[in-house]
Amino acid sequence: MVVNLLGKPADELRAILESLGEPAYRGAQIYHALYRERRFDFAAMTNLPASLRKRLPQEVVIALPEIVRRYPSADKTVRYVVRLTEAKPARVEVVFMPEDDRQTICISTQAGCAVDCQFCLTAALGLKRNLSAGEMIGQVLVALEDNHAALKPQTNVVLMGQGEPLLNYDAVMGALGILLDPNGMAISPKHVTVSTSGILPAIERLAEEKVRPKLAISLNASSNQQRDQIMPINRKYPLEKLLDGCRRYPLRPWEWLTFEYVLLGGFNDSPDDARRVIGLLGNLRAKVNLIPWNPGQLPFERPDPVRVEEFRKVLLDKGMLAFVRHSRGQDVMAACGQLALLESVPGSTERRFSRALAGDSLEV
Ligand code: SF4
Repeated sequence: MVVNLLGKPADELRAILESLGEPAYRGAQIYHALYRERRFDFAAMTNLPASLRKRLPQEVVIALPEIVRRYPSADKTVRYVVRLTEAKPARVEVVFMPEDDRQTICISTQAGCAVDCQFCLTAALGLKRNLSAGEMIGQVLVALEDNHAALKPQTNVVLMGQGEPLLNYDAVMGALGILLDPNGMAISPKHVTVSTSGILPAIERLAEEKVRPKLAISLNASSNQQRDQIMPINRKYPLEKLLDGCRRYPLRPWEWLTFEYVLLGGFNDSPDDARRVIGLLGNLRAKVNLIPWNPGQLPFERPDPVRVEEFRKVLLDKGMLAFVRHSRGQDVMAACGQLALLESVPGSTERRFSRALAGDSLEV
């Protein structure tokens, strides 16, 4: 099989070029061309000699994900369905969210997901496979390229698309190595966030990494009894163990842990829930993002906006940082918990399950 250079760390690119009989520094030049200059065609890598530019396509490839479909939202968010062809073919989603001074790109780390959170449409897909580091980096690159005419100076990347990032740890760390490398994509760790359902051993492993992103934990409940109902992973890593791991997590001076709390109307959105959340998080350097449930095909209610504000006020009154985050791209099924390869028609209420959810294969 032809080697895909995308997602390989700089030292591996050097080794590959050496194996082709070229000087090792040619690998570093390709790394620079890929991630600093975003050139994906060997012919455009003008830092390489012409003879090598001509030879490389016969030896190796740069396989970017292919955009299969774009779903532009009324709020300027774009949900992409991309086709991946490394290993078993698969489709995943990438979400591009432009703002005044930056863009945020939400990428997938697995095709589907095995964690089975009850409020998340991705769970219905089951796990198809892990993505490689190159397939994750490739999602960032295609989203940037597709919007290159309107890019802002700052890019944020969140690993919150399909999949549980910490169950694909090595490939995720490979992708982060390039995203956070000053000689690679050069994105600050302050602008890259990994979100987890709470895979405790992997959180402990991440705590030991020299280079790491920010960490967000998907909390979504105020007690074990409640969390067990919507996040089966809680039976394996219950709140007291998970939060103990969070207390031991070595935060950098600028860093806060983020706890995401999807508010499900009538289920976890009462003032008593808010008080219990304070009891759980009170002694952590933490902020809470409250995400009102996005209506979809699942049997939960959108929370009453008054209750959302009451919930936030209980947290604020106890000195806890709390924000209400309204998910973007809801009209094109790009919002939190909605990524399941659904087809949607922008501007209309028509949403229907794709073949994948109807039980067909995701293979393309
Ligand atoms: S919320 Fe995240 S971890 Fe849970 S099922 Fe959805 S994709 Fe998987």
